[in-house]
Amino acid sequence: MSDSQTPLETLRLRVRAFIDEDVIPCEDNALAHDFAAQDRVICSLREKARAAGVLGPGIARELGGLGLSFRERAVILEEAGRSLLGPHALHAGPPDETNILMLAKLCTDAQRERYLKPLAAGTARSCFAMTEPPPGAGSDPSMLLTRATRRDGRWVIDGRKWFISGALGADFAIVMAQTDGGPTMFIVDTDTPGYRMVRVIDALDGFISSHCELDFEGCTVGDDAVLGEVGEGFGHAQLRLEPARLTHCMRFIGAAQRALDIAARYVVGRDSFGKPLAQHQAVQTLIADSQIDLYAARLMTCDVATRMDARQSVKQESSMAKVFVSEAVGRVVDRAVQLTGAFGISGDTVLSALYREVRPFRIFDGASEVHRAAIAQRALRQCATTTR
Ligand SMILES: Cc1cc2nc3c(=O)[nH]c(=O)nc-3n(C[C@H](O)[C@H](O)[C@H](O)COP(=O)(O)OP(=O)(O)OC[C@H]3O[C@@H](n4cnc5c(N)ncnc54)[C@H](O)[C@@H]3O)c2cc1C
Repeated sequence: MSDSQTPLETLRLRVRAFIDEDVIPCEDNALAHDFAAQDRVICSLREKARAAGVLGPGIARELGGLGLSFRERAVILEEAGRSLLGPHALHAGPPDETNILMLAKLCTDAQRERYLKPLAAGTARSCFAMTEPPPGAGSDPSMLLTRATRRDGRWVIDGRKWFISGALGADFAIVMAQTDGGPTMFIVDTDTPGYRMVRVIDALDGFISSHCELDFEGCTVGDDAVLGEVGEGFGHAQLRLEPARLTHCMRFIGAAQRALDIAARYVVGRDSFGKPLAQHQAVQTLIADSQIDLYAARLMTCDVATRMDARQSVKQESSMAKVFVSEAVGRVVDRAVQLTGAFGISGDTVLSALYREVRPFRIFDGASEVHRAAIAQRALRQCATTTR
């Protein structure tokens, strides 16, 4: 470490070396959708991550993590995101990372021992179950149909959820259900009678985690399963939604940078019409536009992270960043595929996997259209209160 190197820069370089030397050699497009095989690879990488001192960047120190601020995480998660295996290898992937944040703010002492500590240690896995098949809750959470009914002093949960990431192999699910007192979150052990994992949904993406359909039929839990306050489920869920959006931005910026790096190497080494592709102006335009997209994506992400560290409200800014970054990383990866020709869509490169992974980001954690509607409504309200 040079005298002028900050601790964050030292950590960034360590994570970069870990991703380059340990994680990228384990990449294999054939691992897509094979979550058992991915788990085996991730388990062995986590041991190496622990030894390298890079495990749990977003997890609080008292829970065994590195306790980084959001601003610091932006730097580290971008490095981790350069490989689709990187975030989980660092125990910095969805949905566990943001479930840990939410649990840390809401859980009782007993829930902390039973759920939070094993989750933070990586010995338990979780999922967050909110979305339902039509006619239930999707973009509009108020359409929530899953119900938790009071019976004999306990809660009986009935309903169906789908696209629940990480449900395959999860030890517990955080389930949003309607009660007479309003939307409420429950921690449900996945071996509770009445909880059933129906299927792993065949999805475009195949690395971040499984997306599953879940059925709840007479699934009975006690008061000790309530997370936070009865009726406050939607408000509590915001504790994970804003960090979730932002950390997705951080990881996907790393993925997009990787795609651009691969494309850049390709166009320098490949000729057409008597000169390297890189010397054709139309190719340079694609590279430049991707640089600009990534520059803007980083600035927005860092700004929201800085505001979150300062505990400012980031409703508007995090929506704007989510829309911009999800679309920008899609453009960058799409251009990289275009620049690499047939090679880019093949299984000989990670590019094709990156292409499949970035697309869903425009849908989950709020579709672009829904965020745009909210952004516009806030802007219009603000204009209406401005006198001149
Ligand atoms: C990869 C992936 C992982 C996911 N993981 C989870 C998870 O772990 N847990 C969980 O609970 N959910 C998860 N989801 C579900 C996700 O939260 C929903 O897909 C999202 O909220 C949108 O709901 P929907 O799919 O029902 O779309 P719908 O509500 O049916 O909307 C379909 C489309 O209609 C448009 N639309 C909707 N509303 C409006 C509007 N007001 N104005 C304009 N256009 C609109 C948008 O284009 C939207 O994409 C995941 C989804 C994906 C793709």
